[in-house]
Amino acid sequence: MIELEDLTMSYAVDGQVVDVLRGIDLSIGAGESIAVIGPSGSGKTTLLLLLAGLEQPRGGSIRLEGAPLSEMDADALADLRRDRVGIIFQSFHLIPSLTALGNVALPLEIAGHSASRERASRMLDQVGLAHRERHYPAQLSGGEQQRVAIARALVHSPALVLADEPTGNLDKRTGDKVGEILFDLHNESGSTLIVATHDAHMARHCDRVLQMDEGLLLAKRSDGLLN
Ligand code: ADP
Ligand code: MG
Repeated sequence: MIELEDLTMSYAVDGQVVDVLRGIDLSIGAGESIAVIGPSGSGKTTLLLLLAGLEQPRGGSIRLEGAPLSEMDADALADLRRDRVGIIFQSFHLIPSLTALGNVALPLEIAGHSASRERASRMLDQVGLAHRERHYPAQLSGGEQQRVAIARALVHSPALVLADEPTGNLDKRTGDKVGEILFDLHNESGSTLIVATHDAHMARHCDRVLQMDEGLLLAKRSDGLLN
């Protein structure tokens, strides 16, 4: 599903180059769930942005379903995200002027799907929010907003789901519930899931836990247990 080879990334800030990813090799199979853990600043978000084609690496290669991202132009990358990838952010990023239903239907409408409202409605039901369809984001709790965001990310049945600290803004109990919904949907769909997280509960649900430290993948634990 995903092949990373000697992936490097750096940002230039005030003429100074900051190395953020320093040579990552990784192979992820279709349907796997992977937790990426590591301290703040270790490069987790950067890795997810590269996988989504939202940033370009400095060096190395990324292959998604066999296709090298480096050979795709901006339009092809946008098509890839629209059709194959779902992204969930720590701070939800819902559109404030759209209802829960409108937010979830939006990716389908952009992609020109028929019956997008019906599909969005079923998806909201799957995250337990059938009764909140007509609410706006400001009228929803944090946990509910993140469930809407999960529904939006998964509504087009993406092959790859990227989640960046999806429970980071939620209290423990709400976070556990949101995590369970995400993993239930992942297990039903057979999608590949990569989740950057500080949340040990979430990491334990994953097939593999990868630890990042200063731009390197340090340890790969297959037992899902953390130190
Ligand atoms: P994490 O998600 O693990 O907290 P990030 O990938 O966000 O880590 O950041 C890794 C490093 O890259 C940090 O030192 C951060 O300051 C730096 N960084 C991230 N994004 C940018 C950017 N757009 N410009 C400059 N530096 C950045
Ligand atoms: Mg981050």
